[in-house]
Amino acid sequence: MRKSKNNYRCSFCGRDKSEALILIAGIDGHICEVCVEQADEIIQEELFSGKGQANKEDFLLPETVTPMEIKKHLDQYVIGQNDAKKYLSVAVYNHYKRLKQGVSADEVEIEKSNILFVGRTGTGKTLLAKTIAKFLNVPFSIVDATVFTEAGYVGEDVESILSRILQVCDYNVALAEKGIVYIDEIDKIARKSDNPSITRDVSGEGVQQAMLKMLEGTEVNVPPQGGRKHPEQKMVKVNTENILFICGGAFDGVEKLIARRINTQVIGFSGKDKAEIDRDNLLQYINHQDIKSFGLIPELVGRLPVLTYLEPLTAETLRKILSEPKNSLVKQYTKLFAIEGIKLKITKDALTYIAEKALEFELGARGLRSICEAIMMDAMFELPSQKNIKTFTIDKDYAEEKLNRSKLKKLQVA
Ligand code: ADP
Repeated sequence: MRKSKNNYRCSFCGRDKSEALILIAGIDGHICEVCVEQADEIIQEELFSGKGQANKEDFLLPETVTPMEIKKHLDQYVIGQNDAKKYLSVAVYNHYKRLKQGVSADEVEIEKSNILFVGRTGTGKTLLAKTIAKFLNVPFSIVDATVFTEAGYVGEDVESILSRILQVCDYNVALAEKGIVYIDEIDKIARKSDNPSITRDVSGEGVQQAMLKMLEGTEVNVPPQGGRKHPEQKMVKVNTENILFICGGAFDGVEKLIARRINTQVIGFSGKDKAEIDRDNLLQYINHQDIKSFGLIPELVGRLPVLTYLEPLTAETLRKILSEPKNSLVKQYTKLFAIEGIKLKITKDALTYIAEKALEFELGARGLRSICEAIMMDAMFELPSQKNIKTFTIDKDYAEEKLNRSKLKKLQVA
C-alpha cells in the first residue's frame, strides 16, 4: 500500500488522496475515480471491439465439405424437408465460400445468399437454421420479427436484431460478424395496405425498410442490451456483410396467392400442364412474386434471394421424427430410463399412435413432446422407486390408456 506521510495514494496513477475525489480501498492498495473510469474504457474497448479475439480463419468451411455433405449432416437431425435442406446446403456453402473469396482480382463479388423459409409452424424451420449453425460452429441467434417497430414507436428497434447474437458470443464482435441470425415470423411484418383503417403502417413496411441495409450488409449501431436505443447507451458497431440471415414464416394464406398466380399463368407453367399441378401442396410452387403479393416489399424480397418451402408434416413424418433424428425424443427417453438402469421399449404401434394423435390434435412436431410426457409421466414417477424392474415396454394400449387419462386429452376435448 502506497502512503504519503499520513495520507493514501492511488496505486495506479499515484494521485494523492487530496487530489482525488474518491479513493477506493482494496486489499492491498487504492484506486482513484479517474483510474476507475479509464479502466472501464479499456474494458469496453476490449469487449466490444472484438480485436484479437476471433480469428477469421476459424470460420471458414473446411476445404473438403461439399453441399452434399452439409445436407447429409442435416439429414441426421431433420426428417424430410428435402427441398429446404438442399437449398440451405447450397446457400450456406456459397456463403462461406464467399467469405473466403473476399473481393478477388477479377472484381467479381459474390453476393450474399440470405434465405427465406416458408412453411407452417413446427415443420422444422428453426431446427434447420439451428442445426446448420451448429455444424458450422458459428454463433447463432433467433429473433422474432413481431417485436420490432420502426424508430420512434414503442417496441424494439430493428438494430436490436443483432443484440442477441452479440450476447450469444459474449460481445466478441468479430465472432458475431460471421454468425447466422434466424428471424422468425417475418410474415408478421407484411404490409397491410389493403386495410384502409391503417394510415401509418407502424409494424409493417417501416420495419421492412429498416431491415434492408442490415440484410444487405452494412455497419449497424447495435444497442448491446437490445430493446430501444437511448442516447446514453454505448452502441456497438457490427458489420453485417458476412452475417447470414435466415428468415422464416408461415405466410398463412399464401397458397391462395399461389393458386391465383398459377391459374392466370395459362401457358408455360414450368412446362407443366395445369392438370399436373399438385393442388394439395401448392407451397412447392412458391416464388418471389407470391411473397411480394403477400406484403413483403420488393426490396426486402430481393435481399432474400434463396426461397424455399417446408412441407406440412404427415403422420409418417411425425413417426420418424419421434425416433430417427440423432437427438430424437425416443432416444432421449431411452437415455433417461437407462440412467435408472431400465431398458425402455416403445413398440411401433405405440409410435404410430403418438404420431397420429399429434396430427389429430394439430400440435405439429412440437406436440409430440407433450403427448410423450403425458404417456410417460406415471412411469417416470413410479419406476425410480421400483428397483426390481429392468425393462419397461410401452405399447399402443398403454399409450392410449395414459393419454386418455391425461390433462392433455382433457384439454383437447374441452
Ligand atoms: P418452426 O418451423 O416453427 O420453426 P421448429 O423447427 O421450431 O419449427 O420445430 C419445432 C420442433 O419440432 C423442433 O424442436 C423439432 O424437435 C421438431 N421438428 C419439427 N420439424 C421437424 C423435422 N422435419 N425433423 C425433425 N424434427 C422436427
